[in-house]
Amino acid sequence: MHLSSAELIALEERYGAHNYHPLDVVLSRGEGVWVWDVEGQRYLDCLSAYSALNQGHNHPRIRQALIEQASRLTLTSRAFRNDQLGLFYQELCELTGYEMVLPMNTGAEAVETALKAARKWGYEVKGVPDGQAEIIACTGNFAGRTITIISFSSEPQYRAGFGPYTPGFKLIPYGDADALEAAITPNTVAFIVEPIQGEGGVIVPPAGYLHRVREICSRHNVLLIADEIQTGLGRTGRLFACDHENVRPDMITIGKALSGGFYPVSAVLSDREVLGVFRPGDHGSTFGGNPLAAAVGRAALRALIEEGMIENAALMGEYFLEQLAEINSPHVKEVRGKGLMIGVELKPEAGGARRFCEALQENGILAKETHRHIIRFAPPLIITREQIDWAMERIRPVLCMK
Ligand SMILES: *Cc1c(COP(=O)(O)O)cnc(C)c1O
Repeated sequence: MHLSSAELIALEERYGAHNYHPLDVVLSRGEGVWVWDVEGQRYLDCLSAYSALNQGHNHPRIRQALIEQASRLTLTSRAFRNDQLGLFYQELCELTGYEMVLPMNTGAEAVETALKAARKWGYEVKGVPDGQAEIIACTGNFAGRTITIISFSSEPQYRAGFGPYTPGFKLIPYGDADALEAAITPNTVAFIVEPIQGEGGVIVPPAGYLHRVREICSRHNVLLIADEIQTGLGRTGRLFACDHENVRPDMITIGKALSGGFYPVSAVLSDREVLGVFRPGDHGSTFGGNPLAAAVGRAALRALIEEGMIENAALMGEYFLEQLAEINSPHVKEVRGKGLMIGVELKPEAGGARRFCEALQENGILAKETHRHIIRFAPPLIITREQIDWAMERIRPVLCMK
């Protein structure tokens, strides 16, 4: 039985909670940078599932690892050990230069884990009085949807109706290192920051910001947590976006592309001084660190590194950004980004980004608006110059339409 797009959309609308407003495109197949809808129409994916598909759809090596592991052993729980987890840890640590890993499933869980680690480190290592730990975050942040995480969101819609909120968070403006210094107290245990704000609208902070943030955190014995769930694993043309300023955070959260889009896999990376605060029973997850996730994660990292995707993101990102910036459209206010994480901000009078995304869809390009006026272009990191040229032939007229 083959249902049409319209019929499948009707089912979603009738039976599913309406917590998303997707484009009306029903996809049934993906390969590389391309996806196909149930009617066979092909599109270039310029969202990459919010950067979970850095390696492209259906990457053959990651798929093979998933199938092989799925036919052997999928889940042990952490009550027992498995033959994939230790290797996943080792490969992640050797790649990133951190001493320890704590595996989770979704990005939000990795962030929650990092916050818990920071608080416990604050009490046990820094000596903050029990129950007094403070964590600083930035306005415009996005770190997931749990109640604790929305407790430090500045986006009214993410919070409205979901209180009471978790205490212990303080907000400062993004990109303002002086504001960080001013907000720190003796009870501050951590500063959590995205090197580039993704959901906030592809906001690139001033050059030198992360460097100053690193210096301030070190001077005040405050943990620097970089949320690299979207910016990490090659998206901006370096393994981590912090690498652009040679900054080494005390903790990094990763997720999304850690599985190349096959499976939810996330992790916190840090050193023994911080992740060493967890003792058996302090924290956990039934699926976190399962052998299927570990095998998929290992293959996803290998694909990313061995196939030169990070270098390609740097080269193609520069080319794509240049091409987009050259469009002379009355609607465009600014084009910005790093690597293949690009935002095109439209002027308020352009009538919102949604209609442009719908027009792009009609022309074979899938992109999604963020924050009403911004179109995000973040294709898989394997995109070629020819594919960018193909996309530009379609993006140019759409961005210039009436
Ligand atoms: C997507 C995202 C998250 C949350 O990840 P989920 O897997 O959706 O829970 C956290 N931080 C950043 C920066 C993200 O982009």
